[in-house]
Order: sequence, then structure tokens, then C-alpha cells
Amino acid sequence: MKIPYFLLELDQTEDGRGLEGALSELTSEPDEPVVFVRRSQLGGYGATLKAYQDGSLQKLLKMNGLEDFPGPYDYDLIIIGGGSGGLAAAKATAKFNKKVMVLDYVTPTPQGTRWGLGGTCVNVGCIPKKLMHQAALLGQALKDSRDYGWNVNEKVKHDWEKMTEAVQNHIGSLNWGYRVALREKRVTYENAYGQFIGPHRVKTTNNKGKERIYTAERFLVATGERPRYLGIPGDKEYCISSDDIFSLPYCPGKTLVVGASYVALECAGFLAGFGLDVTVMVRSILLRGFDQEMAQKIGEHMEEHGIKFIKQFVPIKVEQIEAGTPGRLRVVAKSTRSDETIEGEYNTVLLAIGRDSCTRNLGLETVGVMINEKTGKIPVTDEEQTNVPYIYAIGDILEGKVELTPVAIQAGRLLAQRLYGGSTVLCDYENVPTTVFTPLEYGSCGLSEEKAIHKFGEENIEVYHSYFWPLEWTIPSRDNNKCYAKIICNIKDNERVVGFHLLGPNAGEVTQGFAAALKCGLTKQQLDNTIGIHPVCAEVFTTLSVTKRSGGSILQAGC
Ligand code: FAD
Ligand code: NAP
Repeated sequence: MKIPYFLLELDQTEDGRGLEGALSELTSEPDEPVVFVRRSQLGGYGATLKAYQDGSLQKLLKMNGLEDFPGPYDYDLIIIGGGSGGLAAAKATAKFNKKVMVLDYVTPTPQGTRWGLGGTCVNVGCIPKKLMHQAALLGQALKDSRDYGWNVNEKVKHDWEKMTEAVQNHIGSLNWGYRVALREKRVTYENAYGQFIGPHRVKTTNNKGKERIYTAERFLVATGERPRYLGIPGDKEYCISSDDIFSLPYCPGKTLVVGASYVALECAGFLAGFGLDVTVMVRSILLRGFDQEMAQKIGEHMEEHGIKFIKQFVPIKVEQIEAGTPGRLRVVAKSTRSDETIEGEYNTVLLAIGRDSCTRNLGLETVGVMINEKTGKIPVTDEEQTNVPYIYAIGDILEGKVELTPVAIQAGRLLAQRLYGGSTVLCDYENVPTTVFTPLEYGSCGLSEEKAIHKFGEENIEVYHSYFWPLEWTIPSRDNNKCYAKIICNIKDNERVVGFHLLGPNAGEVTQGFAAALKCGLTKQQLDNTIGIHPVCAEVFTTLSVTKRSGGSILQAGC
């Protein structure tokens, strides 16, 4: 039932025999186990099972979903969190003529940044990130264009303020579009912070402090995550996070990016693309959890394009040398392997060290929803149901699931269809494709090489790989043998493709199509039987012939 319990093994406890005697005196139970719930003695195995089956165990546990609440409820469904998952669930539920309310509230960052409806993706995630990545790619295209005959004579300069204004205007239009869509679908939207205050009941607090109470038959928690801080002197005062960078009103200048995963490397990539001096401080490895061969190639490419890496160091203090937009900061960092400390001066320090789930100030304990105390994540069943039956959860706050917008959206839609449309389709969290939008994009689907080896054994996998040179890059004569394609096949299952990895331009676009093929059970033979499209990057996957095991050359040899 996913309920934390304390187990005392009498035969493994020092004074087990003494305790056994005391227990049988206290409980008059002749046998073990003896189960207690909230200090009440329930009995042995049989009694516990019976209590579970007739619901009295749940009552004892105060699992509020099973308690009666004097209806009628104000809403069929109240969704806390109007981000990717919450909005998708709201719109899908409204289709079934259900009464739905969405609560969305953005707590400002320590720097005071706030934004509108739509959650992380639209305001401070995927959308502004991809637009800034595009701005950086255009800078590269401008350089390439000279070799293609364009007379771009003057030294081109990037205008941060102009780009940011354009990006923010686009986001503003999306925020407005979401509000209109909710209104059209008759979903009630309240810009207020939601907290459970009792069974089937939430309190909302708006930015003026005005409180209201609503009831609902069911609730969906989709509150997402917010950037983590280091907990060192000066971090909240002087550092920014991804929640601030996309609307920063001034060019960040010389920037230290702390962290080495998606957010850190993507931000470092586009900032360097604007010509800024960028350093990435890495605690351990790049892109933990991803295929490490690909991660290493991304790092090498970024370094070759001027991004500096300080490896195995973490900041321990950030001080302001001079205020300004940007000002000047001194960062003291310590080695993770020795007592060595180093210092550096930057205009901006961007923390990208992971994100914390917004689950600790929701009143979840009031209604008995369990969270993982260490991570703040919510464990759910395959139906996205928490341990309290009338409360569901989706998106980034889920334990053990990938944190991506399309995953949150899919889970929200399918949940609504199951709750109100009679569907039984579950969200499939396996083989989710993803792309890291570093200057050289990395698309992947399925297992990393490390995970495939762990799962099937090295002797049972075949890795086919090749470098390739996008035709478009040959005229500017840049980055030859940097783009890389790799598939991992399960030998014992007809060489089924269990891992797909691509480092190259438009990796997201390419990977999306192959992800569909992987879902259909793509094999190496089927890839070989597929006729390529010439001349495009993705055709490399139809001609992969060199296995890693063979050690054969994979340097590209021309068209
Ligand atoms: P969110 O979208 O975070 O929405 C949660 C909402 O709930 C927020 O608006 C929050 O303010 C609100 N809220 C929280 N608590 C309360 C409360 N008590 N009451 C009311 N409202 C509350 N994913 C991709 O697929 N592709 C990408 O390219 C990509 N890029 C990213 C780049 C960055 C910099 C970041 C940070 C993330 C990126 N992601 C990307 C991840 C993606 O943004 C998330 O996976 C997605 O937004 C999760 O959706 P969600 O519904 O779980 O939460
Ligand atoms: P993350 O994947 O949790 O990575 C955190 C990074 O910070 C790791 O490199 C970690 O290093 C480092 N770190 C953690 N604590 C640190 C400390 N105290 N000092 C120094 N470094 C520290 O976090 P994220 O990059 O913020 O991404 C969050 C999620 O958002 C991702 O899982 C992803 O699903 C989503 N996202 C998706 C996209 C996309 O689809 N393109 C883009 C951005 C984000 P260690 O390896 O040493 O732990």
C-alpha cells in the first residue's frame, strides 16, 4: 500500500526473546507477526488481510480518500499546477463535460523573476531555451554564410536585449493563448497557490493574500519543480538560475555555469553562441544517466568551440565585487578530490544544479499523501494514483519518471481519459525520446550503451556506429568527424534496436521519427532495408555497417 512501516524482527534483535515475552503479555497474541496501526493492535497476518479487504485498515490509517465528505463537491476535479501536465489534463477533462478548476501560482525567484500561466516549459524551460538555441545557431549560420557567398562584411554583434524582448513577447502570447483556451473549454482558472487543508478540500491564496476554500471529488497534483540552490554564502543573493536567465534584462557577460546536465550545458551552449566568455563548473561527469560516450563527445565539441570546463570543482562562496547590470562576482570553488581551492571573477553565475519538487508546502501530509522524504517526489501507481485514492499526480514531481514536457502532457491526457472516458490506456514511460539542445544537438531514445551492457551483457549487444559530415558543413569546412550516429542492438532478439543515439544538427527532428520505429520494435535488418533520403544526415542510420567490436574505421569517407 506504499505506506511507511516499522518492522521489528524479533529473531534479529538483541533482546528479541525478552521482547517476545512482553509482546505476548501485552497483546495476548500467541503468534507473530503482530501488526499495530497508529498504536492500535490489529492482530496477525489474517486479521490484517481481512482489515485491508473490508476497508477498516484504510480507515485506521486515515486514508482520507475513503472517508465520506458531505457533498456535493464544488468541482469534479481540481488541478494544482497549470504547467504542461496540469493544463493538458484540464483540457482533456473538460471534454467530458466535467467541472474542472486549475490553480496556478508562480512563487518569484530570489531575484524577483515571475511569469504567467503555462508552467516551466513555456515560461522558463523548453520554449525560451529552444529560441535562444536557435539564436545561437543563427550566429553560426551567419559565419557559414560568408563561405556560401554572402557578403556579411561588418563584424556581426548579438543584441541580447532585442532577442530577450522578442522571446518574452512570444511567451506573453502563449500565456494569453492558454488563458483563452481554458475559458473556451469552461475550465475555471485561479491564479492562486493551492494547499490541501482537509479531505477533498483545498485552500487557495492569491498574491494579495486573499484566501478561498474549494472542494472536489478528485485532485490532480502537477506542481512541477524549481531550481535548487547551493546553500553556500552568496548563492541566493548574487546567482541566477534558469528561472531568471531567459528574461534577464541585460546581457549576462562573462558567465560561470554551475552544473553539467541538460540545463547547464544547453545554457552554456547558447551563451557561448552569442560570443560570451563561458565557463562550466562540473562536479563529476557530464550528463549523468546519458550514454557517456555521447556526453564526452558533446563536451569535446563545446571545448573546441571555446567553452571552458573546470572539472571536479564545486563553488563554496560567491561574493559581489561590484554591483551592476551585470556586476562583477568573485567565486571561490573547492576541488571534490583534494583541499585545493580556486578563485575566478565573472559577471554572472548561473546555477543549474538540478531542481526540487514543489511538494513540501502543499499540505500533502494533512491528507496523508506520501512523498519520498529524501527527494520530495511522489510515488504513484501505474494509473498515476497516489496512496490516497482520490489524489493523483503527474509530471516532474513523480518518482522514477522522466522529467519532460511531452511525458507530463501524455500522462495528463491519458489520466483524464481513464477517469472520465472509460479508457484503460496507461502512460508508457519506456523508450521516451529526448534531445539535449547543446550546440551540437544530441538526440537519444532507449538505452545508453552502459545500460544495455548492464541489462543484456556485453557479449549480447552489437553496437553499430559511424561519424558523418553534414553536407551543409563541407563548404564552410567545419566540424568534420564530429557528428556521430550509434545504434545498440540486442543480438539475442533478432538485433532489435534497444538504443538510438545521434549527435548532429536537428537531432531532435531526426530522433522523433526513429522513436516511433523503436516503439514498433525496429530491428537492424529493417533499418538496412530502409532506403535513405539523400543527402541528409539521418540517412546514416540506413547504412551503418561498422560494429564497435570490429574496431573498424568509422571516419566518414565522402558522399
Ligand atoms: P510545470 O510545467 O513546472 O508546471 C507546474 C506549475 O505549477 C508551475 O506553473 C508552478 O508555478 C505551479 N505551482 C507549483 N506549486 C503550486 C501550488 N501550490 N499552487 C498553484 N500552482 C503551483 N522538457 C522537454 O521536453 N524539452 C525541453 O527542451 C525542455 N527544456 C527544459 C529547459 C529548462 C531550462 C528546464 C528547467 C526544463 C526543461 N524541460 C524540457 C522540462 C519541462 O519543462 C518539464 O518537464 C515540464 O514543464 C514539467 O511539467 P509539469 O506539468 O510537471 O510542471
Ligand atoms: P539534473 O539532470 O538533475 O542535473 C543536475 C546537475 O547539477 C548534474 O550535473 C549534477 O552533477 C549537478 N549538481 C548537482 N548538485 C550539485 C552541486 N551541489 N554542486 C555542483 N553541481 C551539482 O538537472 P537539470 O539539468 O536541472 O535538469 C532537470 C530536468 O529537466 C532533467 O532531468 C530533464 O528531464 C529536464 N530538462 C530537459 C531538457 C530537454 O529536454 N532538452 C532540457 C533541460 C531540462 P552530478 O552528476 O555530480 O550529480
